Amino acid sequence: MENRPRTKAADGNVPQPIRNDGAGAPDFGPRDVMRDMENPDMLVPPDTDAGLTPNLKFSFSDSYMQLSHGGWSREVTVRELPIATTLAGVNMRLTPGGVRELHWHQQAEWAYMLYGRAHITLLDQEGRIFNEDIGPGDLWYFPAGLPHSIQGLEEGCEFLLVFDDGNFSEHNTFSFSDWFVHTPKDVLSANFGVPEGAFSNISSEKLHIFQGNIPGSLVNQRDQPNYGTAPQSFKHQLLAQEPIKSPGGSVRIVDSSNFPISKTIAASLVEIEPGAMRELHWHPNNDEWQYYLTGQGRMTVFAGKGATRTFDYRAGDVGYVPFAFGHYIQNTGNQTLWFLEMFKSGQNVDISLNQWMALTPFELVENNLHIGPEMIKALRKEKWPVVK
Ligand code: MN
Ligand code: MN
Repeated sequence: MENRPRTKAADGNVPQPIRNDGAGAPDFGPRDVMRDMENPDMLVPPDTDAGLTPNLKFSFSDSYMQLSHGGWSREVTVRELPIATTLAGVNMRLTPGGVRELHWHQQAEWAYMLYGRAHITLLDQEGRIFNEDIGPGDLWYFPAGLPHSIQGLEEGCEFLLVFDDGNFSEHNTFSFSDWFVHTPKDVLSANFGVPEGAFSNISSEKLHIFQGNIPGSLVNQRDQPNYGTAPQSFKHQLLAQEPIKSPGGSVRIVDSSNFPISKTIAASLVEIEPGAMRELHWHPNNDEWQYYLTGQGRMTVFAGKGATRTFDYRAGDVGYVPFAFGHYIQNTGNQTLWFLEMFKSGQNVDISLNQWMALTPFELVENNLHIGPEMIKALRKEKWPVVK
């Protein structure tokens, strides 16, 4: 391999694994330059990165795409990102009239509408129906075990689903049609009081997502028995919620305190302006599952015992932070970074490094870190914005 091309190393547009202090050497390939350009902190990690930290990133672009007439879905579960045991995510698109078929599952479902609108239905354990239209920035929460459906309205829709178990899969749910297919026809006949022939047209093909007609108005339902409407709302308008404003962005928090039904999943919708960052912090309750909506950012995760690793994220990526690991998220692009943080918990809680230091006796902090007077001055400020 004496005659390897040396031109690439001289091309300033191609990033090389070389740090400012000269550590490293050019990579003459084989290599995936596009991928290296998307992951500058992977190719040239900050010199503070050290030790062994597992992978904390997986892109929906690298996951299996299930295409159907009526839409598509893809998922990031423990199969794709093994450390993500607490939550799993599904990215789903439904065409106008496209239906995610009637189904239920052993996990609770939390969802955020990315664009377009959908009609959702759910039956609660008292036999009451919940029918609602969901628009951009709205979310829903379906408790484990309750049957439901989702259907795209006129403009179709795309949304993120999050389940409170990393082992969840879209292809491992209880489907309405599947139960019919796997029940003896004489039993169906006895159960519904109709002849067996009534079930002869049920398709044995797995439905999952299928094309339906665009649903009519909510008030225009056919004449049906009615046991009333579920008293609790399974829908929450997150984007419409008043944000907690910070100098460098904003945060909208949703958990069981403002959306009572959401007992197992809490979330924040975070906005970080170019040049700003989500401060150094950690969560004292559970792991964090992230979904990047727009822009680019980087996160360094402090795993303790000196182990630290930095990852780059962009729209469509999933990030993960194990319980209690320290981290920050910095906007590294020139557009606003928006992302969702999710926790398998009823409460959204975090511990701010700044706040902890500011509220601890100063002498203790000073002796521990040997910090100078300007740090003491900075800590004496009474506000600790989460984005700065
Ligand atoms: Mn579901
Ligand atoms: Mn966090």
